Amino acid sequence: MGKFIYLDNAATTKIAPEVMETMLPYFTEYFGNPSSVYGFASQNKERIAKQRERIASILGAKENEIYFTGGGTESDNWALKATAEAYGAKGKHIITSRIEHHAILHTCEYLEKQHGFEVTYLDVDENGIVDLEALKKAIRPDTILISIMFANNEIGSIQPIKEIGQIAHEHGILFHTDAVQAFGQILIDVDACHIDMLSASGHKINGPKGIGFLYIRKGVKIRSFIHGGAQERKRRAGTENVPGIIGLGKAAELAADSMEERTAAERALRDYMIERIEKEIPYCRLNGDRTKRLPNNVNFSFRFIEGESLLIMLDMKGICASSGSACTSGSLDPSHVLLAIGLPHEIAHGSLRMTLGADTSKDDIDYVVEELKKIVEHLRGMSPLYEDFVRKQANK
Ligand SMILES: *Cc1c(COP(=O)(O)O)cnc(C)c1O
Repeated sequence: MGKFIYLDNAATTKIAPEVMETMLPYFTEYFGNPSSVYGFASQNKERIAKQRERIASILGAKENEIYFTGGGTESDNWALKATAEAYGAKGKHIITSRIEHHAILHTCEYLEKQHGFEVTYLDVDENGIVDLEALKKAIRPDTILISIMFANNEIGSIQPIKEIGQIAHEHGILFHTDAVQAFGQILIDVDACHIDMLSASGHKINGPKGIGFLYIRKGVKIRSFIHGGAQERKRRAGTENVPGIIGLGKAAELAADSMEERTAAERALRDYMIERIEKEIPYCRLNGDRTKRLPNNVNFSFRFIEGESLLIMLDMKGICASSGSACTSGSLDPSHVLLAIGLPHEIAHGSLRMTLGADTSKDDIDYVVEELKKIVEHLRGMSPLYEDFVRKQANK
């Protein structure tokens, strides 16, 4: 087999072997429905409760504040739609940011179009950080919810969550955070950060796909999201995804236990990669904040280059990365995040996101940087824009 270097861990991660091993018996031996009466099946209820406890303890939350869902997208939808329903009589204004995941942005658009909500989309600075003064100014008497992501999935910028939570609470406004990228990478304390609701997902932390959770602080009157049986305290009905929940609990515990060491190693590799690229590839720009940044995120724009061509050529060298330039639908619009940090369209188009994983090595990074150098040079060699630019530079 040829080279295979996976640098797209913000899109999804490989399931950890220990997680897989823990899940397997739940497909075969312990397949019982947790709601059944006989011990063989009802034991699964206790095993699920154990995972709830594990996750709650990582966040400084209580066991009955964790609700299992079908993943990050569902948790985001639930938080926003159910808050809108429960608190809509109090006010119909929501504050979020322009760089949220589409699970938040498209849900906000839905609430605007279908339920008469008004949404303020806060600008971010050139590093992708929300401005606290702008947030304070956006607050109105009818604001019921602030939803700001903990860390951005494209450029890795980490928001001042504690300060945002404080502002929300001083004004009696609920605070939700999409922590899908942050959970497992950053130590989160829901009380210290004044978080009322928090979304996370299994497959971003070396756990299974199709499972996640929503933390809902006790006292927040959020209604049922899925109607049916009594599962998840009647708020999210449907027979529990037992193997998924077991896998999520295990993955969360592994991520929490290894956090310090793993993120220190990733941070060092990340900075090594950034330094090499900045030194060795001309006309590039690091996107996102240099220090308030996820430990595994590298995002660059290369002038005179199409992100898509870059990805195809990296793929031919066995390197999996992603582009900030096209959204998942395959449209040619540049990423809303890169436009929000002020990149012009042509530079936003030449962007590349590489997200490291727990098993990324220095050798991997060296190989990728070497290939990237060659590919960028090759693509620029075919670009009339670049040719023009070089000619103008020479004539100066
Ligand atoms: C991946 C991701 C989601 C969606 O999570 P799924 O479990 O894939 O539905 C939401 N928000 C952010 C920031 C993400 O990175």
